[in-house]
Amino acid sequence: MTSTLHQIRVALVGLGKIARDQHVPALAADKSFQLIGVASRHHALDGVPSFPTLEALLQAVPSVDAVSVCTPPQVRYDIARAALNHGCHVMLEKPPGATLGEVQALVDLANRKGVSLHATWHSREAAAVEAARQWLLNRKIRSVVVTWKEDVRHWHPGQTWIWEAGGLGVFDPGINALSIVTRILPTAVVLKEAVLCFPSNQQTPIAASLSLGDETGAPISVELDFRQTGPQSWDIDVETDSGRLTLSKGGNVMTVDGKPLVQSPDREYPNLYAHFATLVRDKRSDVDIAPLRLVADAFLCGKRVQVEPFVE
Ligand code: NAP
Repeated sequence: MTSTLHQIRVALVGLGKIARDQHVPALAADKSFQLIGVASRHHALDGVPSFPTLEALLQAVPSVDAVSVCTPPQVRYDIARAALNHGCHVMLEKPPGATLGEVQALVDLANRKGVSLHATWHSREAAAVEAARQWLLNRKIRSVVVTWKEDVRHWHPGQTWIWEAGGLGVFDPGINALSIVTRILPTAVVLKEAVLCFPSNQQTPIAASLSLGDETGAPISVELDFRQTGPQSWDIDVETDSGRLTLSKGGNVMTVDGKPLVQSPDREYPNLYAHFATLVRDKRSDVDIAPLRLVADAFLCGKRVQVEPFVE
C-alpha cells in the first residue's frame, strides 16, 4: 500500500451504518486521506485490510496516522484512548463520549501526546447552518422552537445500543439539534427544565421536552420524539425582532419569513474530514462539549416519566 507524501493514513473503527453511508465515501473522495485499515468485530470492507479489534489493526499496521471512531458511544473512550496512546490523531463520531469526564480525559491525553482530537458534530456542517449563524448575529432573538421527531424503527433498526445505558435514546438524533442550536445562537444556552419519557423496558428516553434559555432570556423549547410516524421533522424556528428564520431538513434548508435563502447539496462528512485534515496539519484539536453538556444536564435535572414499553 502506498500513500502520497502528505496523505494521512487513517483507520476506521466500527463499520456500521454511518461508517458505510458517509465515512467510507468521504474518505474515498478526499485526497488528504488514505484508508488503510478497518476494525470491526463482525464486518469487513472489500479491498481494505480488516481486523476484529483496533489493537489487532495497530499491531499489523503500526504506521496508522489517524483513527476515526464510528462505534456507538459506550465503547468510544477505550478505543480513542488506545489510538491516542499509539500516537494517532483521533476523530470522534458524535457524541464524543458516553460521559463528559471521558471527553475531558481524551482532551488531556491528546494534549500530552501532541496529537489532534476532533469531536465532530456533523449537523453543524449542514448547508444552511453557517448562513443561519450569520443571519442571527445582530438580531434580537425572541424565541426558539426545535422540533426533532423521527421514527426510530425506520432510522435505527436493530440498533439495540441506543436503548442501553449510555446510548442516549432520543438524544442520539436530538443532540444533532442541540449541536446546531449551540452553534447558531450568539450567546450561551443553559438548561432550565426537562421531562424525559422512558419506556418501562428501556434504559434511555424515547421522547424528551427541554426548556432552555439563552443569555438574553429568550425561551428555547426543544421537542424530541422517536415515536413519529408519517412526516418526519428536523426543524428549528427562530423568531427575531426582524423576521422568522426556519432551518429545516436537519439544517440543510434555510428560509426567512417563508422565503428560501439557502438550499445546497449535503457536504457534512466531506467538510468534517477536510477540517480534520486541517487540524492534523496545524497540530490543533477541536472539541466542543456544549451539546453533550446539555444532554448531561437534562439527565441530571430532568423529571422522569415512565411510558409504555418499546418493542422494535
Ligand atoms: P450502527 O449501525 O449500529 O454501527 C455501529 C458499529 O459499531 C457496528 O457496526 C459495530 O460493528 C461497531 N461496534 C463496536 N462496538 C459495538 C458495541 N458495543 N455495540 C454495537 N456496535 C459496536 O450505528 P451507527 O448508526 O453507524 O452509529 C454509530 C455512531 O455514529 C453513533 O454514535 C451515532 O450517533 C453516530 N451517527 C450515526 C448516524 C446515522 O445516520 N446512523 C449519523 C451520524 C452519526 P461490529 O459489531 O462489527 O464491531
